[in-house]
Parts: sequence; C-alpha cells; structure tokens
Amino acid sequence: MELVKCPECGKENVSDTAEACPDCGYAVKIHYQRLREEEAKQARLKMETEKKLAEAQQKKETETQRQKEAIEALEIRIKGYTRTIPIVAILTIVFCVLTVISWNLSEDGDLGLIIVFCGFATFFGGVTWTSSISAQNRAREDLKLAKQSVDSYEKKVEERKIKEAEIAKRQQELQDAQHPKCPNCGSKNTKRITFTNRAVSTATLGIASSTIGKQYKCNRCKHMW
Ligand SMILES: [Zn+2]
Ligand SMILES: [Zn+2]
Repeated sequence: MELVKCPECGKENVSDTAEACPDCGYAVKIHYQRLREEEAKQARLKMETEKKLAEAQQKKETETQRQKEAIEALEIRIKGYTRTIPIVAILTIVFCVLTVISWNLSEDGDLGLIIVFCGFATFFGGVTWTSSISAQNRAREDLKLAKQSVDSYEKKVEERKIKEAEIAKRQQELQDAQHPKCPNCGSKNTKRITFTNRAVSTATLGIASSTIGKQYKCNRCKHMW
C-alpha cells in the first residue's frame, strides 16, 4: 500500500488500494492498478526492443566476421594461384629444355621420343595451367560475391558442394557398374574383359576360349562370368 494523491480532486494521502476517494469518490484503486499495469507493459516492451536490437547487432557482427573470414580465405587462394600458375609454366619449359639437352648429349638420342616427352609435358602443363586459371577466375568471382553478401556467397559454395557430391556419386555408380561384385567370392576387385585384353590373352596364351562369352573377371578368385 502506498499513500498517493487523488488524481481527480487532488486530495493528499489517499491509499492507492482505496476503492474510492473519500472526498470525490473517484476509483483510485483501479486508476493506480491500470497505471502500474501500463508502466509494467511499457517496461516489458522496452526490454524486448532492447533485446531485439542487441540480437540484430550480434547477428550483424557475426555476419561481418564471417564475411571478413571468407574474403581473407579467398584472397589467400587467389594469391596462391598467382604463384602456382607461373611455376607450372616454368616447370614445363624446364622439363622440355632438359629433355632436349639430354638428347643433344646422348649419341643415339631419339628425336621422336623427345617430341613425345615434350608433348606430354606440354599437355599436362597446359591442362594444369588452364585449370588453375579457371579456378583462380572462379575464386575472383566468389570474392566479388562475398564482398556483396556473405550469405549469397555461402549459399553458392553450398550449392557447388551439393553439385560436386552428385557428380562424385554418379562417377561412383559408373565405377560400380564397371566393377560389379564377383558372383563367386563377392569381391569388388573385378574388371571388364575388354576387346584388347581379350586379344592380348589370345595372343599370349593362344587360347581365346576361356574369355569368350564372358564379360567380367574377378581379380581375387579369377572367376569369369
Ligand atoms: Zn478525490
Ligand atoms: Zn571372385
């Protein structure tokens, strides 16, 4: 209980639990009840708003942090490609130069072999080179996106992962089809009998009969089916 002033007639020392003001009959109790309820409601609202603001601030901070980390990681990756791309080119050239030098030094060097060697080196170097460049370009695009919105960037990475998993799954299925389970021992260490290895076995063993009509061979128990 508290002694208050009647809000209607201004009489002092009226109990805030009095149903009515002794002077004017004003419903003091209800008036103060409503007032306190309103105050409590306002306080609650204020607290909720502050909590929401703090949460939004927190979210913004973690988002900025995530964005910062993503940008840093991408910049490191891009820099890494900038180093590896010329290294690939240099290694390819060095390999070819060394092959040519060793060919010049040897008495009966085979030019055809050199061309094949350098051809392979250039091919693998070229493949590594172009794939590094496209990977770097992709990282640059990712960086641009991450700077715009870290959420979109993370979504893109997630989608890419799903796509890659699908491709890996399909490749696994293809491989499983190439290496079916051996009906004899259950091993997956099997291979398809191709036209070439059938021809080879015919040439070396002189018998084609064992593989004729068979599609697969088990490497473990040698069963064919
Ligand atoms: Zn009164
Ligand atoms: Zn087997």
